[in-house]
Amino acid sequence: MEPNRGNDRNNPQKPNKPKGNYMTALMIALVLVLLFSWISNAIKSSQYNQTTYSDFVATRDAGQLAEVEIQSDRIIYMTKEEAAKSPSQQKACYTGLPSGSDTRAMAEELVKMGVTVNKLIVEDNSMIMMILSYVIMIGGLFLVMNLVTRRMGSEGMMGGFGKSKAKVFMEKQTGVTFKDVAGQDEAKESLQEIIDFLHNPQKYTAIGAKLPKGALLVGSPGTGKTLLAKAVAGEADVPFFYISGSDFVEMFVGMGASRVRDLFQQAAKVAPCIIFIDEIDAVGRSRDNRLGSNSEQEQTLNQLLSEIDGFDSSKGIVCLAATNRPEILDKALLRPGRFDRRIIVDRPNLQGRLDTLKVHTRKIRLAEDVDLRKIAQATAGAVGADLANLVNEAALRAVRNGRQAVNQEDLLVSFETVIAGTEKKNTVLTDMEKRLVAYHEVGHALVAALEKHSQPVSKITIVPHTSGALGYTMQMPEEEKFLSTAEELRTELRTLVGGRAAEQVVFGVQTTGAANDIQRATALARNMVTQYGMGSNLGLMTTASVQNQYLDGQAYMDCAQSTAAQVDQEVKEILDSAYADAKRILTENRSLLDEISEFLLVKETITGDELMAYVNADNQALPAPQDEPDTQEEPTAE
Ligand code: ADP
Ligand code: ZN
Repeated sequence: MEPNRGNDRNNPQKPNKPKGNYMTALMIALVLVLLFSWISNAIKSSQYNQTTYSDFVATRDAGQLAEVEIQSDRIIYMTKEEAAKSPSQQKACYTGLPSGSDTRAMAEELVKMGVTVNKLIVEDNSMIMMILSYVIMIGGLFLVMNLVTRRMGSEGMMGGFGKSKAKVFMEKQTGVTFKDVAGQDEAKESLQEIIDFLHNPQKYTAIGAKLPKGALLVGSPGTGKTLLAKAVAGEADVPFFYISGSDFVEMFVGMGASRVRDLFQQAAKVAPCIIFIDEIDAVGRSRDNRLGSNSEQEQTLNQLLSEIDGFDSSKGIVCLAATNRPEILDKALLRPGRFDRRIIVDRPNLQGRLDTLKVHTRKIRLAEDVDLRKIAQATAGAVGADLANLVNEAALRAVRNGRQAVNQEDLLVSFETVIAGTEKKNTVLTDMEKRLVAYHEVGHALVAALEKHSQPVSKITIVPHTSGALGYTMQMPEEEKFLSTAEELRTELRTLVGGRAAEQVVFGVQTTGAANDIQRATALARNMVTQYGMGSNLGLMTTASVQNQYLDGQAYMDCAQSTAAQVDQEVKEILDSAYADAKRILTENRSLLDEISEFLLVKETITGDELMAYVNADNQALPAPQDEPDTQEEPTAE
């Protein structure tokens, strides 16, 4: 482990206490005390007539004094004239006591003169009284505050100093079970043990097995990590604490750490329970990172580490955390005894998507014609949150159109809204542009259809979408694939550049519409060379490494500059050969290209079947397209 780890477990230094809390309380108490003494002074003064010290001396010398009270800072006296009045009308006078006066001598002198001296408040005594009363007041204030914060804490949302803004949510019962989480079978299986443990910790402790303290849920945004954590709490029937990592990171140093401690204290009171920390990368990012240190984040992380080490897992607290960037997490978080279990929450496959759609349409009235399998096929790559959104959009559309149930068209249209952007019917293209778009899209589709290994096309459209695509071609792979051969990748490249090839072959022009295709083709060719070892010269050498596997999956070159230049050269060769092939295929099938493009220009959207009918009519040797495939949506710009 790295040195300079701050407050690690081995470090005896205590993690910092939330001094901020007590300081604020103290400040408020002080202000209150000052206010109180000012008000009480003001009240006291208004009961008396204010006079000058010379008035007092004159009255005394005239023998007009009836009673005198000498206080630490003032003299209160009653003239004989006032004393003669009825008690309700009497009003005493007061004047300041000159500093340094000998109050005892003054009192004795007055007594000799026959004046009643009521009270002699000796200075030191009054100071002690004052301090004592302040101490009592501050103590009382603390007591009240403690009570208030405790009360709020037990009601779910934490409040009070240092906690007021913490978005800790506590649900006694989440009401979510594994039935609500579609797919994710491996994740569920790994979590099953945690549930079992929460149900019956003795079973584990009896053998002497140490229970897992935490597990890290890793996956792309929207794949259902929060949902899974809630389901674990629901299945085990224990309370669920939710906080987002970004809530910990506060403007004031020390606040985050105090929040962490509060969270674990609350949890300990209701154990067994689940603590879920969303976006743990916000606090858990590696401390030795190059972007400069953030002491608040470090303190919060240290506190988190010490709390995780500190709690006794046999009490039944399980800490789940979610992230989509496990690679940036601090190593200390991942070491044994902390978040040592890693549960991958993948993007759903065809069956997973179908199940997710089923879960979300449970409460939705569906028309007879709805075929969820088709929707699941069309949404390859979509995550659970996308699908939930899709179903909701479809329901909204059905309501908008005044229907009683959601039909297949609603689902298909909202699929295009959610995944491809809303259809933008009013983008006006000139006739020439339209022809270019049609030929471009058919170029993609035809290359794909004619290539033996390629996936049949499911839909071609030249209706523009708000996502910027002027049209797109959707491909359907025969089955979900996890491995691709080099030849399949080359076919994909030919399909990608097929659009540009059609523009070139038919019109002899190059348009900006192919930009996205070229980008994707280049990225694919680059991966082939740098990561898959498919380059002809560099062979089996990795020249780039992936950094954020669960976010953008971007790869960064790590090789010598001369090698990088060589990579570029190989990438160019691969692309050139794919482009040449695509142009050859389209030139050889020029009449087919024209026919289908003209048909598309009229209909604007054609299905894969319609396309294949043309292709098969032209070339009997080609097998008919298979149905029941999984879809890989391949929206292609232009
Ligand atoms: P994450 O925490 O991974 O970003 P969430 O758990 O917040 O994702 O998921 C957002 C929403 O997406 C959920 O509330 C749920 O409606 C839906 N969802 C995601 N995955 C699934 C799934 N496997 N089954 C059912 N619904 C899901
Ligand atoms: Zn294209």
